[in-house]
Amino acid sequence: MAVDDFDVFSADNSNANEESLRMVSANAVGNEPVSDEELRPHILEGFIGQPRLKAQLQLFLDAARKRDVPPDHILLAGPPGLGKTTLAMIVANELGVPIRVTSGPAIQHAGDLASILSSLDAGEVLFIDEIHRLPRAAEELLYIAMEDFRVDVMVGKGPGASSIPLTLPRFTVIGATTREGMLPSPLRARFGFTAHLDFYPTEELEKLIERSANVLGLELDEGSAHQLARRSRGTPRIANRLLRRVRDWAIVHDLDIVEPDDVKEALALYQIDTEGLDRLDIAVLNAIIRNFNGGPVGLNNLSAMVGEEAETVETVCEPYLVREGFMMRTPKGRVATAKAWEHLGLEPPEGAAADVSKLF
Ligand code: ADP
Repeated sequence: MAVDDFDVFSADNSNANEESLRMVSANAVGNEPVSDEELRPHILEGFIGQPRLKAQLQLFLDAARKRDVPPDHILLAGPPGLGKTTLAMIVANELGVPIRVTSGPAIQHAGDLASILSSLDAGEVLFIDEIHRLPRAAEELLYIAMEDFRVDVMVGKGPGASSIPLTLPRFTVIGATTREGMLPSPLRARFGFTAHLDFYPTEELEKLIERSANVLGLELDEGSAHQLARRSRGTPRIANRLLRRVRDWAIVHDLDIVEPDDVKEALALYQIDTEGLDRLDIAVLNAIIRNFNGGPVGLNNLSAMVGEEAETVETVCEPYLVREGFMMRTPKGRVATAKAWEHLGLEPPEGAAADVSKLF
């Protein structure tokens, strides 16, 4: 979900191009909301990839429709840019109900949430992005509302204050989180359906890129979508952003059709490497290897070294680096694998951690 506090990623914030290409951050997502909208699919069928999740969700929605009741609450978990907001919008659209959008950080007091809840219509979807960042008091109010469809409205202040229970119509909460582990279990337990979104394989991103290129009116030669997909860190939002930068390249170079070499050249300009690692990923690997001799190193030391918030390093960089076998998280800290040393053109030391990602 696009919010205003898009936070930049770099240790050295001077490079505007790179900032615009860091498409995901821990707290906020996206800085091209209008274009994000234009590329967002509106029905489940148009949502690319994640076949099992789509089948589960389809069944879940069909059952609710047949029973003619709003579906249970839904929790969508996974790294930024994988389609949580898109899915929430699709659910509301498929059910033909309005969607109200807010986020954990936007709700500062329980009262803010109480006033949103008390104004919901029957069947409406309430989407709460970054739900793990709700204040504690709001969390408690939310799980009572989710369970009993009731909210206690406080009237007055101090010793004379009293609470008036207000009955709410049935509604559906869709929570999105990049940090499922931070959700207290009573809140987690209120969700009848939890979906974990995972990074997309290259073939699925290729389809997504072809679809988006169509929407943008850009013609890609065979192999171009593949080159783009490989560099997209398994993330649809990044794939779409890179595609727009390639479109810029095509416009400036008067290209009717984009060839794979154009993609390579355009993205090399933005320092996106062949494995899709960007400057922050490389900075993290460099820090572990050059400053901490391959690790182990704690998250706080690591994020201080690259000049980025620990949450961004943890939720944006690490899942992809771990998944692609460049890094391991161990009880003692983060460790660079032999693959990371080699990727930086360095000889891995004897006994460097092997890439274990392929074992899972
Ligand atoms: P999140 O809420 O998980 O951060 P979004 O739902 O905002 O991610 O997705 C980012 C962008 O990526 C959206 O604008 C949408 O166009 C695109 N997108 C994400 N997932 C898919 C998908 N499975 N199919 C097609 N487009 C997608």
